[in-house]
Amino acid sequence: MNEFDLIRRYFSKPVPSGYLGAGDDCALVPVDPGKQLAVSTDLLIEGTHFLKDVDPSALGHKALAVNVSDLAAMGAQPLGCVLGLSLPQIDESWLEAFSHAFYRYAQASNCPLVGGDTTRSPDGIVISVTVFGQVEPGRALRRDAACPDDDIWVTGSLGAPDIALQMLLGQAPLQPQLLQATRHALERPDPPWRFAQRLPGIAHAALDISDGLLQDLNHILTASGCGAVLHYDALPVDAALASVDAAQVQRAVLAGGDVYQLCFTAPPENRQAVSSLADEFRLQATRVGTIVSTPGLRVLDTIGKVIPVSSLGFDHFG
Ligand code: ADP
Ligand code: MG
Repeated sequence: MNEFDLIRRYFSKPVPSGYLGAGDDCALVPVDPGKQLAVSTDLLIEGTHFLKDVDPSALGHKALAVNVSDLAAMGAQPLGCVLGLSLPQIDESWLEAFSHAFYRYAQASNCPLVGGDTTRSPDGIVISVTVFGQVEPGRALRRDAACPDDDIWVTGSLGAPDIALQMLLGQAPLQPQLLQATRHALERPDPPWRFAQRLPGIAHAALDISDGLLQDLNHILTASGCGAVLHYDALPVDAALASVDAAQVQRAVLAGGDVYQLCFTAPPENRQAVSSLADEFRLQATRVGTIVSTPGLRVLDTIGKVIPVSSLGFDHFG
């Protein structure tokens, strides 16, 4: 099988009407008049971003989902994606599983695959996904838009992907039941992209949690020139972590990455609007803290005592 056969066989499924997909020099993507284009790209390199023996189906899903998550974090509507794929050899069962999962998520997230590039790379698999979305000009959820007194919200739950990853990397003892309960969150992230499209006008700043809540929230604080207080007991800990010891849960929830849920800020008068929106999309949105004018990020326990978080590799707290 040569490159062209490969593209025809695995990456040339039909695109929605109004689109031009794989086969020409460029893809054509319809954009609503007057909208701004939101663009994001991610590189995944074997050995660095994923393990050699990872399930190709999980990889196909995640390669696109992490990009759709970036669109969600801007409040943008997905329009389409392109896929750059570099492979050491043609492995048909790998390609079948990868492309199937990629297309399945593309359909589920209204983000059709419209083109890409395919090459050989002797040193391992490299996957590059670029997504396109659209947003009303001036309405994207930027990191620099948080204001003092805003509530801080988190969608979904926290901690499960990190607990699964620790076990898969052999950095925590393997507990088969716990792995089974957490692995889905690591391998099949499902960013709330429909909900996110309705946040402009309700929320101020937003981002997706990819590196860990503290580190990611800190990007909002730096960009917006403010600080935050988080209430540890309010954080939505994944139910699968019920049997995990408290210190491990704390690290996973505050510093664990790969969550691909949103952290956003919204003025207190929009609490009801956020809750109604979350109900409409049947997802969990939890109020976890407040933006303050004093720089720094403090995590408080039930009685208002500061929880030291420097041991989590995070030292931007005030
Ligand atoms: P060009 O030489 O113009 O770059 P290519 O031969 O690389 O075109 O690709 C042929 C067509 O197949 C293009 O429309 C391209 O977008 C598409 N394509 C190539 N690789 C992929 C891929 N991995 N996924 C989806 N479409 C692809
Ligand atoms: Mg090409």
